[in-house]
Amino acid sequence: MFDRILIANRGEIACRVIDSAHRLGLSCIAVHSEADAGARHVELADRAVQIGGPAPADSYLRGDAIIAAALENGAQAIHPGYGFLSENPEFVEAVEKAGLVFIGPGADAIRAMGLKGAAKQLMERAGVPVVPGYHGDNQDDAHLAGAADAIGWPVLIKAVAGGGGKGMRLVRRAADFTEALAAARAEARGAFGNDAVLVEKFIEKPRHIEIQVFGDGDRAVHLYERDCSLQRRHQKVIEEAPAPGMTAEMRSAMGAAAVRAAEAIGYAGAGTVEFIVDASDGLRADRFWFMEMNTRLQVEHPVSEAITGIDLVEWQLRVAAGEPLPATQDEITLNGHAFEARLYAEDVARGFLPATGRLAHLRFPEGVRVDSGVREGDGISPWYDPMIAKIITHGPTRDIALSQLRAALRATEVAGTVTNLTFLENLASDPGLSAGDVDTGLIGRNLPALSCAPRASELIRAQAALCAAGLVEKPRPFQGFALWAPLEQTLRLCDGAQSFEARIRCPDARGIIVRIGKAELAFRRIAGGWAGPDGAPVNARRIGDLVAVFAGATFEFRVEDPLLVAADAAHGSDVIEAPMPGLVRTVFVRPGDSVAAGDRLAVMEAMKMEHTLRAGRDATVAEVLAREGDQIEAGAALIRLQEDTA
Ligand code: ADP
Ligand code: ADP
Ligand code: MG
Repeated sequence: MFDRILIANRGEIACRVIDSAHRLGLSCIAVHSEADAGARHVELADRAVQIGGPAPADSYLRGDAIIAAALENGAQAIHPGYGFLSENPEFVEAVEKAGLVFIGPGADAIRAMGLKGAAKQLMERAGVPVVPGYHGDNQDDAHLAGAADAIGWPVLIKAVAGGGGKGMRLVRRAADFTEALAAARAEARGAFGNDAVLVEKFIEKPRHIEIQVFGDGDRAVHLYERDCSLQRRHQKVIEEAPAPGMTAEMRSAMGAAAVRAAEAIGYAGAGTVEFIVDASDGLRADRFWFMEMNTRLQVEHPVSEAITGIDLVEWQLRVAAGEPLPATQDEITLNGHAFEARLYAEDVARGFLPATGRLAHLRFPEGVRVDSGVREGDGISPWYDPMIAKIITHGPTRDIALSQLRAALRATEVAGTVTNLTFLENLASDPGLSAGDVDTGLIGRNLPALSCAPRASELIRAQAALCAAGLVEKPRPFQGFALWAPLEQTLRLCDGAQSFEARIRCPDARGIIVRIGKAELAFRRIAGGWAGPDGAPVNARRIGDLVAVFAGATFEFRVEDPLLVAADAAHGSDVIEAPMPGLVRTVFVRPGDSVAAGDRLAVMEAMKMEHTLRAGRDATVAEVLAREGDQIEAGAALIRLQEDTA
């Protein structure tokens, strides 16, 4: 076994690798960008090396700097995590050339699976079923359109170098093909530096079921399947293992196909073979097709660890150090059921827009596995994936594991940045999910209901007022009140766009009454805090002018400063502002242009996702305030429309 390894990654995966490595007695070197100097993975590591600026290209993608850091600090091996350099064969070769071990598959295996098109051709030859489509080299527009016609609509255009759902477009009819092709190519070029695409049949009502495999370069075993059908924009949201409704026959067919795929390329280490399944008629052993192989540890690997009791990072380290496969197929047993939910800083109501901010408050429940790369107080920067944590539950049955997930999500508290927590809670309570009736369109079909955020009741507002008045965190009932009689205080708070007034009275030492509009809510002291009229303890926190109330969901309020209100109202609606920090990729208009409502004005890119800004009404462009290539802040003015004179 190694004594010391370097982890060429950041965030939760770097922390997770360090955990297992420490458990095995290894010393860990972290690398980090300027933006991550104070990050959790840096704190957990035994030593840390700064390798460059915040942009991934200046740090986490700098193979040379990472290898130099490993050599200078006496590491024997490099763990790549996922993303960044994990599937980069040139990096693997450079690591090996430097006399270090790459903890993962060989460069050839990564190359064989690196491009989806070539991988599909290879799998076809190995006898693994593949989605019908065009996977060849001819990238001519007319040829691809012709291929799509021959396959039959709808089709999916995919970046051959794709990952994370990027560079993918669903096209339902021939008329939309050209625009979708251009968009897929542009996204692929930006994210992967390769704009080649493939076209394949779009399976309606599909399920995404993938097999965790593990190889030693010669033989491979599988660790059963994961169902990752709950996706938005082709990105996984909640994953589970095993797949609901899986039959013994289909499991063994899929397991065998995945092992065949891994062995066909002499696979070493942890990998995932992803299949798309036509579940329109239940799960059937002849209705699954190879989609791609991810030649790395996958984000959702913890659910497989939960049901098999195997630590995949431990296996990665042992096999990379030269040990044989730690278990045979017969020794790998399936126990219970597991779920994972991905908690992100993102604005669900605005199309899952990645968000930034400071995690002013962050609490996770006890008794469940939480993999996270951030701590309370940390920032979510615009440079990287905005994942906050993965919440993983494991129970004896699917029902129990899902109840555990619901409870864990309810008990998770985050404030300071917008998150998808309420969305995850809604999703975990979806009747289709409870029934095991999942497919990749489930989220899209139920989006309005899933995106619905509970409105703050008067009780919640009263709790916020209590907290804003400084009475919740350290309950000192006389604080601020003791000198006056009658004891009274008035506060103004903002709930989203709505502002309200709360009057707080303290009739005696043991009680407080909060009046909001016509409602009067009485709170009384209990051990360690306050209880509301429903008897439930108040759980809230004030951070600066922010007040967060945690009551199953997180409710955020701002304590209003009367001076700021006027400035806000003066803001014109004719200005198109950047909805998030990011890069201005394309500006479509010039001053003087007339635009119609819905026209594209500009495209921004943040965290590798593109967002199109459109005109809200018919207008003439007055001013263009940003240039292509500009890196801009959230809220920056991009384009000004002429005043509406009609
Ligand atoms: P899939 O490619 O099947 O969607 P995963 O869900 O495991 O696989 O991961 C999504 C992709 O997003 C990864 O391939 C990785 O490139 C990227 N990614 C996700 N989170 C991070 C992160 N924290 N750092 C770097 N890359 C990430
Ligand atoms: P990535 O590398 O971005 O993970 P994949 O090829 O794994 O790309 O596809 C990502 C997701 O897109 C799948 O999980 C599935 O939801 C959807 N998808 C992919 N191929 C098809 C298809 N042929 N028909 C329907 N949905 C598909
Ligand atoms: Mg995939």
